[in-house]
Amino acid sequence: MNRDAIFIYSAELEKYQYPPEHPFNTIRAKRTLEVIKSMGLLSGPGRRMIEPRPADRVVLKKFHTARYLHALKTAAKGHWDTEALSMGIGTQDCPLFKGLYEYAVLATGATLVGAEMLLSGQAYVAFNPSGGYHHAGPEKAAGFCYINDVALACLILAEKGKRVLYLDVDVHHGDGVAYAFYDRCDVMTISLHQNPKTLFPGTGFEDEIGTGPGEGYCVNVPLPVGTYDQAYMKAFNAIVPPLIRAYNPNVIVFELGADALAGDPLANLHLTNNVYAEIVNHLLSYNKPILATGGGGYHIGNTVRAWALAWSVFCGADTGEDMDLAVGGVLLESTEWQGGFRDRRLAVSNSQREAVLPSIDATIKYIKENVFPVHGL
Ligand SMILES: [Zn+2]
Repeated sequence: MNRDAIFIYSAELEKYQYPPEHPFNTIRAKRTLEVIKSMGLLSGPGRRMIEPRPADRVVLKKFHTARYLHALKTAAKGHWDTEALSMGIGTQDCPLFKGLYEYAVLATGATLVGAEMLLSGQAYVAFNPSGGYHHAGPEKAAGFCYINDVALACLILAEKGKRVLYLDVDVHHGDGVAYAFYDRCDVMTISLHQNPKTLFPGTGFEDEIGTGPGEGYCVNVPLPVGTYDQAYMKAFNAIVPPLIRAYNPNVIVFELGADALAGDPLANLHLTNNVYAEIVNHLLSYNKPILATGGGGYHIGNTVRAWALAWSVFCGADTGEDMDLAVGGVLLESTEWQGGFRDRRLAVSNSQREAVLPSIDATIKYIKENVFPVHGL
């Protein structure tokens, strides 16, 4: 089997930027590329970069309505009206900017090229850091997202008969994807995110488990404010591996938003990027093709480093944790970059544990009681 890891990027994407005051920064993909290139992680056998092409309109219509696509395209050209606004286009979260439509279509094309390369066996891992727009709905722009590249990728993979596992570790609920497949059992969606009582989009409670044939195939893991690495991995390990093994997917779509990292200006979890490395290693252990995308991540430096770390794990270049950082029990309260891609481990206090663990335990219990039985667990 071809084990190539493909990084998907085009300088064309650099031409487009959200307004300067907007938290979403398209420069993160370019910076990630620069970092991995400078570390020699794009050269050598089994690693390469490919250029995306814009997604076809006919493909976009598999998820979005013609009315919405028309409004998005014309609004981006300056013909913005109340109909577009009613679909979330031109709001504070989803503003109009120059080249918006071209950007969204190219960023989506990058994810879809990755899906195609997995289907054709040309790649084993494909990573599009310019993707992961998981909040967009069929007729709705939301949460900085206009075209839902990840929902489209899942749709296309499922159309080809694949059993798709969609795993979303962005700090926000992956609502657009979860609801696209809410009544289907050929795409299982698992989203770990900050408790929706305290964060956009306000959905993704553990009792949202899918409906009809999709019951038990939508999994939500809300996490309390302050969730730290060990608590996160406790929830992950209790819930995700048993479900993946029982579901036995053919392909994994992985939305790797980096806004659950400590210090993210828009959210309140307390992770280090070691969690992402652990999850990527775990996903690789299934020996299934993986389509990974970016997503949120509003501390640019931390996000770039997390994605560079994920890439280094994908292409087998991560050497594991730098144990020097914990020598002598000195764990500094800092995610400052010390040279490698991995963050320093953050110290956890007893009061943090007490604040976080009961809620995590309750969520694990709920999912074990209400979702696991569907899968014979
Ligand atoms: Zn997010």
